[in-house]
Amino acid sequence: EVRVRFAPSPTGYLHVGGARTALFNYYFAKKNNGKFILRIEDTDQKRLKEDSISQILSSMKWLGMDWDEGPEIGGEYGPYFQSERIELYRREIKRLLDEGKAYYCFCTEEDIEKEREEQRKNKLPYRYSGRCSHLSKEEIESNLKAGKSYVIRIKMPRDGSTEMEDLIRGKVVVDNGQLDDYIIMKSNGIPTYNFACVIDDHAMRISHVIRAEEHLSNTPKQILTYRALDYEVPKFAHLPMILAPDRSKLSKRHGATSVEEFREDGYLPETLVNYLTLLGWSPGGNEELFSIEETIERFSLAKVNKTAAIYDIKKLSWMNGQYLTKSDLEYITKEAIPYLIEDGLIESNDVEERYDYIKRVVNVVREKVKLLTEIPEASSYFFKDIDQYEEKGVKKRFKKEGVTEILEKGKEALKNASSFDVETVEKVYRDLIDELGIKGGDIIHPTRLAISGRTVGPSLFDIISILGKETCVERMDKAIS
Ligand code: GLU
Repeated sequence: EVRVRFAPSPTGYLHVGGARTALFNYYFAKKNNGKFILRIEDTDQKRLKEDSISQILSSMKWLGMDWDEGPEIGGEYGPYFQSERIELYRREIKRLLDEGKAYYCFCTEEDIEKEREEQRKNKLPYRYSGRCSHLSKEEIESNLKAGKSYVIRIKMPRDGSTEMEDLIRGKVVVDNGQLDDYIIMKSNGIPTYNFACVIDDHAMRISHVIRAEEHLSNTPKQILTYRALDYEVPKFAHLPMILAPDRSKLSKRHGATSVEEFREDGYLPETLVNYLTLLGWSPGGNEELFSIEETIERFSLAKVNKTAAIYDIKKLSWMNGQYLTKSDLEYITKEAIPYLIEDGLIESNDVEERYDYIKRVVNVVREKVKLLTEIPEASSYFFKDIDQYEEKGVKKRFKKEGVTEILEKGKEALKNASSFDVETVEKVYRDLIDELGIKGGDIIHPTRLAISGRTVGPSLFDIISILGKETCVERMDKAIS
């Protein structure tokens, strides 16, 4: 059975990198009728941030990645918080000690610093010498009795090499001489990441470990740890890095990087999911827009790139515009309403009664914006009076000779319109244009300015039809006077 996990450390918000990792795990699980597990790696109390867990969970839900086992829902292999699994880690550490595969290390910081110095002299990268692995039983006993502080280290082979078949990168070989007896339990009794990760991936029956490339260097250590524990080794896949357009490490200065920020900025979850999917994966061909379901259908790790993905936020806003325009109108309306309320354009009590009107507005405005947050500004004149006309429009449109007469005629024609659907108002205006022998723009532009206060926007006839007779006539009167 395929069982994969996303294992964030709650040190802040869910960022694009983490979200992409979660998403690829999710796709792989769904594609293979497997399980997607969420595990919170919260053993490092110093780095924990308050609210981080609830933020991560809410971002995951917002993106539509429901987990099969994990926080809030539990599951057969819980608990799903590492801080609640300490007993299990200690049990396995004791087993390794008993089997002589791990040992107490009483080296002080000064001892380690001395080793570092020495190795620096020889221009070697630091590795622990393993000196405490030679302590006798008696020495260990007396150190423990004396209450000396200690860590537990795991014995790593010195010779040979460790191989793995990465499902994305192919064969990866690491010389064991590069590894050292790493610490599996710190002096405070808490296990380290590499160790807890192995224990949990085994205990939770994880079949495939799919994670970011930055963890590639941990994988040989973990493989050797699986072997020391007599566990079956899972399969591994390391996702390519995500870099900024200038190929530097992604940071704040490259724009929003947390899922929460995108949400606040007015992106749709569909956009972000689609965009993250393209960071390292492509279905082949030029297609760029696809839903979660479509990706699941076509997903395979073999199609994930080995080379770094470039994170270019410009494309994201284009994509959001596409989703705003093409998604179900009811859905976009529902998403837009909170922003309209927030900007005071509508009252939450009126939403139900005015729903059809709001929907018509959103329908014509959504094609003109890239973000949900832009909808209030783009649609304000549908909800409140115009307090000023766009300046450059006034010069160009209202100051033109004969414009007052033309607007007057337009107003009369609308007043007499038999109905106010888009087709009828358009016909009324077209007939008037013919009758007066003027160019379309001669009446369309000033009318737009008169009833919307702006020079650009949705089709004029959509605006007229939505605003209705009374408002149009009123606003045109005001413009003429
Ligand atoms: N807690 C680790 C992280 O957030 C998990 C790494 C892994 O997937 O093994 O980077």
